[in-house]
Amino acid sequence: MTTIARFAPSPTGRLHVGNIRTALHNWMLARQSGGQFVLRIDDTDAERSKEEYVEAIRTDLAWLGLSPDSEARQSLRLDSYEAAFAQLKESGRVYPAYETAQELELKRKIQLGRGLPPTYDRAALSLSEDERAAKEAEGIAPHWRFKLDHDAPITWEDGVRGAQKFEPAQLSDPVIRRADGSWLYMLPSTVDDISMGITDVLRGEDHVSNTAVQIQMFEAMGAVAPRFAHEALLIGKEGKLSKRLGSLGCDAFRERGIEPEAVIALLSRLGTSLPVEPIAERATLLESFDLSTFGRAPAKFDDAELDRVNTALVHALDFADVADRLPEGIDEAGWHAVRPNISTVGEVAEWWRLVTGPIDACEFTDEDRAYLADALAALTWGDDPWGALTSALKEQTGRKGKQLFLPLRQALTGMNHGPDMGELLPLIGEEEARARLSKAAG
Ligand code: GLU
Repeated sequence: MTTIARFAPSPTGRLHVGNIRTALHNWMLARQSGGQFVLRIDDTDAERSKEEYVEAIRTDLAWLGLSPDSEARQSLRLDSYEAAFAQLKESGRVYPAYETAQELELKRKIQLGRGLPPTYDRAALSLSEDERAAKEAEGIAPHWRFKLDHDAPITWEDGVRGAQKFEPAQLSDPVIRRADGSWLYMLPSTVDDISMGITDVLRGEDHVSNTAVQIQMFEAMGAVAPRFAHEALLIGKEGKLSKRLGSLGCDAFRERGIEPEAVIALLSRLGTSLPVEPIAERATLLESFDLSTFGRAPAKFDDAELDRVNTALVHALDFADVADRLPEGIDEAGWHAVRPNISTVGEVAEWWRLVTGPIDACEFTDEDRAYLADALAALTWGDDPWGALTSALKEQTGRKGKQLFLPLRQALTGMNHGPDMGELLPLIGEEEARARLSKAAG
């Protein structure tokens, strides 16, 4: 059976690093086996869902290279939910309830006060026909609950958590539809998973108890439930569910100069028993992707780790990978010269300035000025002007180490450190190098 996995964000905000991780893992699950990766926009909440977020989700997935094979949208599928609802009502698996939010809250408080779990007491199920009619005559519109079957435990083999078991009597019959007719998450998601032929649901462990309920929904609608896997949540390195992570997404990564491949390399392995490595090839990451390596403990996201992976990946980028993002005039040799000194591609400009100029002026002692005048006289322009210059000066002046190199670097680049001079000098060019040495020599 071909794997069909889905990523089902609610467009009520931008994707954050936790959502990105779930999207990636679903993409990997599908790509690993030549399956399908579906983007499902969970936009039944008309008030909170925004078109700009739908657009942003598409843009972010494209930036990450996680393009879906198809896209579905819950707001365009309301008829299917209506049909499923009618069928479940008909078969007695959905019932109307009339309690107000305040009444429910009070019931919960009483249960908790008695040390009981705050599950819904199903009072609405025992209303007579007349009592219901009376409520409706009072103008109280019902909300709707799915009636859980209490006969047998709900079990499944979770791809990450192993054998799972829930006693349905300990769960509340979930509200699936509000009094105004709008849908809550639970039923539409199940209806869609059935009609899209979803084979694998991989999502955060905050959905574990939803899965128990949804398994009964699949069965109530005569469908076979997909495989389920729930990954441990992502937390900040300080060990908490952090607010910052909840707002950290592709825009922030891009602004920081993080390559999409760094995000992918880190998030594909974070929280698994596999080492996080700067792997740029998705095929390699896909080969090792395996739910059985996923741990149960929360995965810790650390910015410094992302930066490290990013730097390592940037150092391995070829000129062709970055050519369209480099400053005007920089060629392959220029890229190779500055690449070891950067941790983001954006930093190239700072170093490339050392080639194009103008450079900062440095202060030199009289002795160094004389040395730089010697350097100007000794400069020849062959295959390796830096090697030739420094060998000649070493011989001629007896200088070595820092004394030999630093005044030259300062005169030629205006800085105390930077890219390898052997690579930089040919890029600066003879004329400009002479001009810089001459200026520094005074
Ligand atoms: N829209 C739900 C969420 O973002 C989808 C959960 C699921 O994958 O079923 O939490």
